[in-house]
Amino acid sequence: MRWDRDDGQMALFGAEHRQLPDTEYMPVNARRIINTVPGPQRLPFRYTINAYRGCRHACVYCFARPTHEFLGLNLGEDFERRIVVKVNAVEKLRAELADPAWEGELIAMGTNTDPYQPAEGRYHLTEGLIRELSEARNPFSILTKSTMILRDLDLLVEASGRTRAGVSLSIGTIDDDLARRTEPGAAPPSSRLQAVAKLAEAGLAPSVLLAPILPGLSDDSQQLRSLTRACLDAGARSVTPIVLHLRPGVREHYLGWLDEHEPQLAGQHRQAYSGAYLPRREQDRITEAVRAEVSARAGGCRGGSGSADGGRSRSRPRTRPVP
Ligand code: SF4
Repeated sequence: MRWDRDDGQMALFGAEHRQLPDTEYMPVNARRIINTVPGPQRLPFRYTINAYRGCRHACVYCFARPTHEFLGLNLGEDFERRIVVKVNAVEKLRAELADPAWEGELIAMGTNTDPYQPAEGRYHLTEGLIRELSEARNPFSILTKSTMILRDLDLLVEASGRTRAGVSLSIGTIDDDLARRTEPGAAPPSSRLQAVAKLAEAGLAPSVLLAPILPGLSDDSQQLRSLTRACLDAGARSVTPIVLHLRPGVREHYLGWLDEHEPQLAGQHRQAYSGAYLPRREQDRITEAVRAEVSARAGGCRGGSGSADGGRSRSRPRTRPVP
């Protein structure tokens, strides 16, 4: 474990900060805050920061749920309501960026938990991290499902004048009702689209990850095209589809949710997800639907794969899940 539970610090926070009506915040001191992505990965970054663990957005499909089990907590309610807060994240980052061994590589936030989940409204760690990265002129990226990113708009604009500051929203459907059922703590997609528009207006060139696309719920061609169009209309620089993937633990959690809420899909999922990923032909169909909409909007002259930026995004759907 890279951090220690700080019970002395908990006393400083006071009971009202440790225990909200339905959320417990668990302050800890991280030993390091910049994490290195282990092993060879097909990811555009090697370093990450996650100032929180657990996520109040409570997405039923969240790939990060099993990380709570490493803490002796469960991947269900505990993941959603018992949020670990690395209270020394900002000071740790300042020290690690100043280390001569640090080579100034891009740091991704939002890879394992949402940096703008409700805890951020209380602790302001993401805000402090952006400030440090900006002052150090260290490139970074942020991925979120929250409109709270707009709170830091001025800070992000300032950072983008100093370094590479990538901002992305994750929007897997434009159906607010479906999102309310599958992402009960996150902002509705309609609000996220408005956030994309504001980020674009501010010159931050936001990207959208169409993530995750849920088989049987948000994956028909018309839904995909409407979602793609809405994101491009809002000002997304690129759109990249990511299909649901289900690793052990999350698979059982998600299938349990389907059994209860969408039982007609449960059997198909048990067959289709014999492994973690949907069969390739289904993934390709989803990519093609997004690509067709991007091409249609561009007058049929773009060959990108769901990108509104001349095809700079990946040529196949990413299956790495995201917040
Ligand atoms: S998918 Fe992202 S926003 Fe949703 S619960 Fe997981 S970390 Fe939070």
